[in-house]
Amino acid sequence: MAGWVHRRRDHGGLIFIDLRDRHGITQVVFSPKDKVAFKIAENLRPEYVIFVEGKVNKRPKGAENKELATGGVEVMATKVEILNPAKTPPFEIDQAGDINEELRLQYRYLDLRRERMRDNIVFRHKVVKFMRDFFDKKDFLEIETPILIKNTPEGAREFLVPSRKHPGNFFVLPQSPQQLKQLLMVSGFEKYFQIARCFRDEDQRGDRQPEFTQLDIEMSFVEQEDVLNLAEELVLKLVAKLTPKKKVSKKPIPRLTYAEAMSRFGSDRPDLRFGLELIDFTNWAKKTKSDLLNKAEVVRGLRVSRAELAKKETFTRSEIDELTILVKNYGLGGLAYVTKRDRELISPLMKFIDSKAQATFKDLKNGEIIFFGIGEEGIVNAALGALRNEMALRLKLADANRLSFVWVTDFPLFAKGEGGKLEAEHHPFTAPNPGDLSKLDKRPPEVRALAYDLVLNGSEIAGGSIRIHEPKFQQKIFEVLGLDGKEIGERFGHLLKAFEYGAPPHGGIAFGLDRFMMILRDEETIREVIAFPKNQNAYDPMLETPSPVDGDNLKEAGIGIINKKK
Ligand code: ASP
Repeated sequence: MAGWVHRRRDHGGLIFIDLRDRHGITQVVFSPKDKVAFKIAENLRPEYVIFVEGKVNKRPKGAENKELATGGVEVMATKVEILNPAKTPPFEIDQAGDINEELRLQYRYLDLRRERMRDNIVFRHKVVKFMRDFFDKKDFLEIETPILIKNTPEGAREFLVPSRKHPGNFFVLPQSPQQLKQLLMVSGFEKYFQIARCFRDEDQRGDRQPEFTQLDIEMSFVEQEDVLNLAEELVLKLVAKLTPKKKVSKKPIPRLTYAEAMSRFGSDRPDLRFGLELIDFTNWAKKTKSDLLNKAEVVRGLRVSRAELAKKETFTRSEIDELTILVKNYGLGGLAYVTKRDRELISPLMKFIDSKAQATFKDLKNGEIIFFGIGEEGIVNAALGALRNEMALRLKLADANRLSFVWVTDFPLFAKGEGGKLEAEHHPFTAPNPGDLSKLDKRPPEVRALAYDLVLNGSEIAGGSIRIHEPKFQQKIFEVLGLDGKEIGERFGHLLKAFEYGAPPHGGIAFGLDRFMMILRDEETIREVIAFPKNQNAYDPMLETPSPVDGDNLKEAGIGIINKKK
């Protein structure tokens, strides 16, 4: 056997080595009877790389280790060779608990020796293999698309790659293979998939990586239903095979329209492992005497029931203060509430609510509380959506062992960007719902798209759409988005030109592979399922990069640095 010294124990005159390799740990025993081997074993330290020869014996009765796959046997060593000694690692490889993440990333090759990380990487391989087999069986082709391309506007900032051959010109790294997979449909490949690396130069809000992996899919001659069915079959088969211990709700995956998701859960990626649906109080609020309430665009409530509170009596003042800070981050002015203590209603709004209005709360049980979001609909939804998730966290309402998928469909085609400018909600190639075409010119925000997201436990794990395939119509959407003829030609000329040569109707979807695996592995960040991720500051502490390059390299690329940060 060959591998790494995981642990050494000297015990009753014998030396025990836990030898670690990719598949796990095996116990090796050295006896002083075997003088040469024993002498070497005395010098073995953690992480030495060794080669061992010996005889596999059954362990003595009572000495078995049920935790280990090899726990029934041990190797009685007759020969050992040190292939390479090792320095003491900066953290213990068999340490299960918290290790400073920056240190882990700096020594990622050692971090990956740890069991949990090794298992994550092995799992990742299995997921990707499953996907490849699945699509192969369904007659899809895996086709690579280039990494050096022209920009593919989908909303994120792109990484630039200077061209030495064409000074002053740049490639960009793809945020996704979106346009290329559409062009492959024009080529007639009909069913495409790719495990594709994508790049987005975004601020590291939350759990993001500048490069990440998508399972990218595109199909011709399909409707939304075909894409949803395929993706559904994939994920349900995949989790049944690879995470058999997880509880998964029955087929089919439930569906919510975007509008429903927002009004019931305050989010377009609701976690359906728990209830806590929002309740609309707008009509009620209109009848109260408070201007705050009756002038608000919407008033919605989040009611925490006795069952959800479980053993918790009620929310304390300081907890409510914390929750108020949370909702203020989403733009709410404050967090009003109604609760009941000793059968008495308590609320900062009490003086505005007359006895008639109070009747609404008569079934409130002691300790139960309704939090209110008062104001603009978008802000109220976002704030209460976040509060709903926070409640679930604090009250432990989400079953960690459950996988709860939900489709969110009928997204709006457009979103309001900076300065109220119309932007594509998904990307500009998304087809509108044919039923809403009449609103395209006059009321674009009301146009729904043939776009869908797959949500798992409150995270978006996939998103896609049916695409526009008629060049004139694509041109029209660019115009609605405020692009002029010149911009359209420069940025999308290739696509419009291609569409003029017979583009089939097509649509697709892409999965964020890292996030999907993170959830399946119960990890907190996608970094835990990526072999060599960047840190939260988009920096690689192991390679120590991004880093300056040689002046000559810059000159060749025709680049001068104007704003050098230390
Ligand atoms: N390209 C899209 C994305 O990266 C996915 C798709 O529409 O297929 O979000």
